[in-house]
Amino acid sequence: MIKISFSKILLLVFIFVQQTVLQAQSTIDSILPVRGLSIAVPTPALVDSFVTFINQELAPRRVNTLILRVDYHYQYKSHPELVDSGALSLAEVKKIVNACKQHKIRIVPQVNLLGHQSWANKTGKLLTAYPQFDETPHVKMPATYKWPNPDSLYCKSYCPLHPDVHKIVFEVVDEVCNAFETDAFHAGMDEVFYLGDDKCPRCSGKDKAELFAGEVTKIRDHLARRNRQLWIWGDRLIDGRTTGIGFWEASFNNTHRAIDLIPKDVFICDWHYERPDKTPVLFAAKGLKVATCPWRTPQTAVIQTNDMVAFRQHSTPQMRQNFQGMIGTVWAPVSAFFREFYGKQPGNTSGNTFRAMFDEINKLGK
Ligand SMILES: [Zn+2]
Repeated sequence: MIKISFSKILLLVFIFVQQTVLQAQSTIDSILPVRGLSIAVPTPALVDSFVTFINQELAPRRVNTLILRVDYHYQYKSHPELVDSGALSLAEVKKIVNACKQHKIRIVPQVNLLGHQSWANKTGKLLTAYPQFDETPHVKMPATYKWPNPDSLYCKSYCPLHPDVHKIVFEVVDEVCNAFETDAFHAGMDEVFYLGDDKCPRCSGKDKAELFAGEVTKIRDHLARRNRQLWIWGDRLIDGRTTGIGFWEASFNNTHRAIDLIPKDVFICDWHYERPDKTPVLFAAKGLKVATCPWRTPQTAVIQTNDMVAFRQHSTPQMRQNFQGMIGTVWAPVSAFFREFYGKQPGNTSGNTFRAMFDEINKLGK
């Protein structure tokens, strides 16, 4: 009799604990379905520490989405000419993939398409190997980079109408998605300032919103044929003048009308770092799924988290499903981020923002 009661009690305790865990999971999922971090891939030397970071910092905070900025830091077999320094092997990638699988974290690898094909005075791998894809070949890379500059050079772009560019970048996209075993890919596409250049023989005179939307659609269609979803940053889809948001985190080059031209299943990462702009409402009202992406201002990230939860609570079912969640961003290399994060450097840092944002998410999701 006592034995039976004891085993029954154990079973009841087990069921209770399991139900509590499942209930907590469904509460946080209903409050914010997407809870993420966007960060560069580590160098090979930091892969094991990165796996520890996933196990000890991401999983306990209930992070379920990891945007990994890979670019050409992977040993692509399809395009060895594009492989950059410090590139991960397939075995190193699998260590990250397995850690994420264990904690049910969805990986979204990122390779910058269209824009961000150079940084400061350094041309990126794609345009170094294939200079014919350069949208602005007449803009020479400066010996020392300064902003502002006479060419308004921030980052180079590839020409979206070059007939040979997509075969190459899509082989890269397919390989990175296969390596990371994922059903979502992030194409970047932020801060594209060089687009439809007057001197480009293919793009000159074309509508920039149509050029931008055309490239988004082409990438989306390629991914959709493989049952994968396209993610992009949102800045080119916001009217920077009318909103006063400016030319970095919104568009001054007439691309914003593309918001009505792109397919509705493109996922938008809406980044605002200093001010909690209410732009998720803009995307959600256009039928696009959106997550807010803070960087290094903890107070802003906490407001943005509460905004996102409130948007979901006070919306129609049609809009609610579009407000997807929060994704913190880290723009330093992983080594510098780890120094800051584990060194508990005070103040406005991406590490403190990540901590504050997830403290708030987990408080609201209790
Ligand atoms: Zn062009």
